[in-house]
Amino acid sequence: MKRYSVFAVAREALRYHQGWGRAWKSPEPKKKYDAIIIGAGGHGLATAYYLGKNHGLKNVAILEKGWLGGGNTGRNTTIIRSNYLQDASAAIYEKARSLYETMSQDLNYNVMFSPRGVMMLAQTQHEIRGYKRTAQANSLQGVSTEFISPEKVKSLVPIINIDGPRYPVLGALWQSRGGTARHDAVAWGYARACSDMGMDIIQQCEVTGIRRENGQVQGVETSKGSIDCQKLGIVVAGHTGVLADMAGFRMPVEAVALQALVSEPIKPCMDVVVMANTVHGYMSQSDKGEMVIGGGADGFNNYTQRGSFHHVEETVRALIETFPIISRLKMLRWWGGIVDMTGDRSPILSKTPVGNIFINCGWGTGGFKAIPGSGWAMAELMAKGHSSLTEEFSLNRFKEGKFIDESVAAGVAH
Ligand SMILES: Cc1cc2nc3c(=O)[nH]c(=O)nc-3n(C[C@H](O)[C@H](O)[C@H](O)COP(=O)(O)OP(=O)(O)OC[C@H]3O[C@@H](n4cnc5c(N)ncnc54)[C@H](O)[C@@H]3O)c2cc1C
Repeated sequence: MKRYSVFAVAREALRYHQGWGRAWKSPEPKKKYDAIIIGAGGHGLATAYYLGKNHGLKNVAILEKGWLGGGNTGRNTTIIRSNYLQDASAAIYEKARSLYETMSQDLNYNVMFSPRGVMMLAQTQHEIRGYKRTAQANSLQGVSTEFISPEKVKSLVPIINIDGPRYPVLGALWQSRGGTARHDAVAWGYARACSDMGMDIIQQCEVTGIRRENGQVQGVETSKGSIDCQKLGIVVAGHTGVLADMAGFRMPVEAVALQALVSEPIKPCMDVVVMANTVHGYMSQSDKGEMVIGGGADGFNNYTQRGSFHHVEETVRALIETFPIISRLKMLRWWGGIVDMTGDRSPILSKTPVGNIFINCGWGTGGFKAIPGSGWAMAELMAKGHSSLTEEFSLNRFKEGKFIDESVAAGVAH
């Protein structure tokens, strides 16, 4: 009789209790799927989930070269907001934000959505003008935001120094229903729901080739063998160029490492998210008490998923004038993820030059907040061939010069 150690039994019991067991296994690939999604990050999993839930397409596999949520989805600073300037952006980000409000109930999995409020500090005259303009646009778009005074900023965040010598706080764009969520839980919640619908999530399964015939996709080659499919969704963030190359087309996307860090845990001192785009840094406090701090992207293209000392120094130096308390904090960990940047800093959700291959990428430094809206829209695009939410984000905009200029509201900020 096979014998199990106490630890092994306890580990398995815990996994099943938490509902991970089914999502965690690596099933044998089937011969042919209606749809394959490459990439088990938030966007790939959400796409699969809404393919099943909204369009009844459940013969679906999600292929992941690493582990569930191990890409940017598990590495970001979890800021959720929808205060974008352009109508197309506001529509998809607000769809996502509103889905976050009920995600824990929809998935029956606690994603710890915390609508604690997000403020984007205005520290130059240019930012004041830009944020007032965005607040006006948001009121027409039905997105609830307001431009608030420095005094209101101070009352919401008492630890802020609003009278800094270089960049005093001149006001802020405030979205009271923005916030944060637990990033891995978003991936796990979607994964469990996909698994419950009978979909296969195959980890440690790297896609190494894409088979085509007469301009139509036939299937993929993977490290676990060959698999056929009717439709293919490429949702691989920083590896978009690599996968597009396998399918025989090029993408207007660059891969760059983006870094973040956390401090030692301290008592609760800040219950909103603050972004300071002029000096470039942003901060929130996690439930464990760590100050979660996001920095900038590397100034050169690369595929590293690591942090570097000079970014820690740069980011802390940038924030210290506005948040003097961090001068006395020890920093605990830092890390990086590979983000996918387009020229206009807006995403791509699109058909491609190959029939039945669809692509979702270009979320750059700010796609965590978009996961449910992006999945919803991408599933509609894959199932029906069109979606009102994706129209302006198609690849054609690079041919037609119809860029979506989000420089004031988004830029490389989150
Ligand atoms: C440090 C940092 C901070 C950030 N902060 C925020 C924030 O505060 N708010 C916000 O909204 N966004 C933020 N972002 C951006 C956000 O994390 C990303 O936009 C989002 O997670 C992208 O999700 P995804 O599912 O597209 O990609 P990923 O989560 O990266 O998933 C793609 C998956 O594809 C897999 N893959 C790649 N190649 C292959 C292959 N050949 N075969 C199979 N699988 C493959 C990868 O292993 C990966 O798991 C941040 C990012 C970073 C790095």
